[in-house]
Amino acid sequence: MSGHLAVIGLGPGDPRYLTPEAAAALAAAHALYGYGPYLDRVPVREGQSRHASDNREERARAEAALDRAALGGARVAVVSGGDPGVFAMAAAVCEAIETGPDIWRTLDVTIVPGITAMLAAAAQIGAPLGHDFCALSLSDNLKPWELIEQRLDAAASAGLVIALYNPVSLARPRQFAKAIERLQRHLPQSTPVIFGRAVGRPNEQVSVTTLEAAAATHADMSTLVIIGSRATRVIERPGRPPLVYTPRAIDRVRT
Ligand code: SAH
Repeated sequence: MSGHLAVIGLGPGDPRYLTPEAAAALAAAHALYGYGPYLDRVPVREGQSRHASDNREERARAEAALDRAALGGARVAVVSGGDPGVFAMAAAVCEAIETGPDIWRTLDVTIVPGITAMLAAAAQIGAPLGHDFCALSLSDNLKPWELIEQRLDAAASAGLVIALYNPVSLARPRQFAKAIERLQRHLPQSTPVIFGRAVGRPNEQVSVTTLEAAAATHADMSTLVIIGSRATRVIERPGRPPLVYTPRAIDRVRT
C-alpha cells in the first residue's frame, strides 16, 4: 500500500477558520508533524503520534514526514498555520521530494488549503485586496535583503497593494522599519497601512494607520501588514471602525 502525506492548512487560529476538509484530513492521520504551537491547535486523538519541531526546521520536518509516510503505508499529516502553500510547509515538502529518494515520488501527496493570514486580516477591515496585490515575505533567511528591497521597489512602483508576511523576527528587529523607509520612496505618507495582529485568535488586533506612522507602529512575528496602493481608500464611520478598501476599477498607474 502506498503511503499518504497530507500537508494541511489550519487557518489563522480559531477553529472556525479550519475547513471541513482540513478537519477530516487531521482526523484521518496516523502521525502528525509540525511546529509545536500549530500542533497544539489540533485536538488530541487516541492512536495518533505527534512530532513537534522548531519553526526553523521546515526542511528536516518535511523529510521526517516523508520518511514516515514511505514506511509501511502510513497516513501522515504535516500541519501549517494559514495556508500551507504560502511561505510554509507545502513548498518544503515539494523541495524534499524533488531532491530526495525515488520512493518519495510514489507517495500519495495531498495539499489541503487553509485561510491565509492576509485574507483573514483583510476581511476584518474591509477590502484592501479588492484590486491587484502581491504578497512578500520580509524574512531574509532564504533570500538576500537586496532582493527584498528590489521587490518592494517593483511592487510599490507598479501600484500593487502589498501584503507583508514575516515583518520582524528576534534576529531582524530593524527589517520592518527599513522596508517602510524603502516604500516611502514610492508612496505618499498618507498611504493607508493595516496591521493585523494575531488575526483569528483571542488577542486579535486590527488597526489602520498611515505610511508615515507605520515604522513606529508595533509589528511582531504574529502580525500581517498590508500596505495600500495610491488607490486604497479609508471610509470613516461614526461609532464604528473605518473600512479600508481598494476600488475594483483603476484607469492608469500613478507612481
Ligand atoms: N502559512 C502562513 C504564513 C506563514 S509565514 C499563512 O498562510 O498565513 C508567518 C507569518 O504569517 C507571520 O510572521 C505573520 O506575518 C503571518 N501570520 C500568520 N498567522 C497570522 C495571524 N493569525 N495573524 C496575523 N499574521 C499572521
